Amino acid sequence: MTVPAPYEGEARASAAGDSGAHEGILRRQSARESAARTYARSLPIVPVRARGLTIEGADGRRYLDCLSGAGTLALGHNHPVVLEAIRKVLDSGAPLHVLDLATPVKDAFTTELFGTLPPAFADRARIQFCGPAGTDAVEAALKLVRTATGRSGLLAFTGAYHGMTAGALEASGGAQDVRVTRLPYPQDYRCPFGIGGPRGAELAARWTASLLDDTKSGVPRPAGMILEPVQGEGGVLPAPDAWLRRMRSITEERSIPLIADEVQTGVGRTGTFWAVEHSGVVPDVMVLSKAIGGSLPLAVIVYRDDLDVWRPGAHAGTFRGNQLAMAAGAATLAYVREHGLAARAAELGARMLGQLHSLAKEFPCVGEVRGRGLMIGVELVDPGATETIPPSGSAATAGATPTDRADDPLLGASAAPLPAAPHLAAAVRDACLDRGLIVELGGRHSSVVRLLPPLTITDEQAAAVVDRLADAIAAVARTAQA
Ligand code: PMP
Repeated sequence: MTVPAPYEGEARASAAGDSGAHEGILRRQSARESAARTYARSLPIVPVRARGLTIEGADGRRYLDCLSGAGTLALGHNHPVVLEAIRKVLDSGAPLHVLDLATPVKDAFTTELFGTLPPAFADRARIQFCGPAGTDAVEAALKLVRTATGRSGLLAFTGAYHGMTAGALEASGGAQDVRVTRLPYPQDYRCPFGIGGPRGAELAARWTASLLDDTKSGVPRPAGMILEPVQGEGGVLPAPDAWLRRMRSITEERSIPLIADEVQTGVGRTGTFWAVEHSGVVPDVMVLSKAIGGSLPLAVIVYRDDLDVWRPGAHAGTFRGNQLAMAAGAATLAYVREHGLAARAAELGARMLGQLHSLAKEFPCVGEVRGRGLMIGVELVDPGATETIPPSGSAATAGATPTDRADDPLLGASAAPLPAAPHLAAAVRDACLDRGLIVELGGRHSSVVRLLPPLTITDEQAAAVVDRLADAIAAVARTAQA
């Protein structure tokens, strides 16, 4: 793989680019596409070629892509093994669409997938192929546990993101649904109890247990608990392993199925093949999508066989048999496994986090740097703010000025989070783009700059990513101070 060129050279339009076509396509997109479009608003790019970490736009500009299809591209763009697997199916004359019928391609995908799962889970696992998006697999998981338990309520977490269809949306943090009981997700910087660390996580666990055991809590015994082992869209919040084990024992002791949504954390991303492996937790249901399709749409749930009591057709859909996605996905899973890319993500992610931590010390507008493996977030805050922002932390900190915090008898100055700074995060994202680096924003206030590079990223590329991000933050910090 080639070492990236200095960003000045890459981000400048090259002679090969056609900036007229680029502008025209962008203009037509904004005239014709929905107001609900998302990434297209903040990333005025028209990708025409891509390989690994690099995307080339119609205007000839080249970018390092740390958005990676919102974490989909475990092997980056157009990896040779993925292209070969797709070509093999196309050349074989195999049917491309067969609903949920058995095919050799599907058989091979399922075997490869089961081979990667924790053995204690795989030994008794069933798989349901769902409609092609992660959100459909979330719907299937909710339906499965509701059918199996005969109960309807759901436990879900603050800041969660599970998708955009009705049930998945209900389970996500932005929703206000009576069937969903919202529990505190542990986090250090904006700990709802104001203390963070293992003690903050333990208080979150105790709150969960007490809600379930208090006969007057107003929370009926739920059908299941759904959680992300690392909240991605919620702002890159890794759940402490001890807390995850507490969620497992709390649910197990009360016969509540535990659903791990590994749509974004799966396939090596966090440093183990599946993120639940860090804690040793064996969930009852796993929701999988994104990377399992090797860049094509594919979503499944895998679950313990005794939950398999729903009726034929209970969760159907025309597009449950994407042969190309299964072939691309099987090739991706095998490549990640054979090349130890989960361990590589752990090692490289720790190095990048270490380098980024020094940014937090250097720039007061960096509130926290956090992550697990190659799922990394940098939270931008407003060090001089006196304005109130919508509260996301404890009542004690919401809207408080830095001086108030220093006087806070409960928190002290060091533990106090500063107000989120979405405008600075957006400025950093734009400054990254100017430097030829594509990043995403996430978090409660869109104040977290997120990195989700492919697991195949080289040391040199990782260094270039950190350099460009650091340079972008420095530039934004300079203007913010001016
Ligand atoms: N769960 C998680 C954890 C996700 O991150 C996402 C997408 N970002 C989804 C579910 C929904 O997946 P999709 O966008 O494919 O519906």
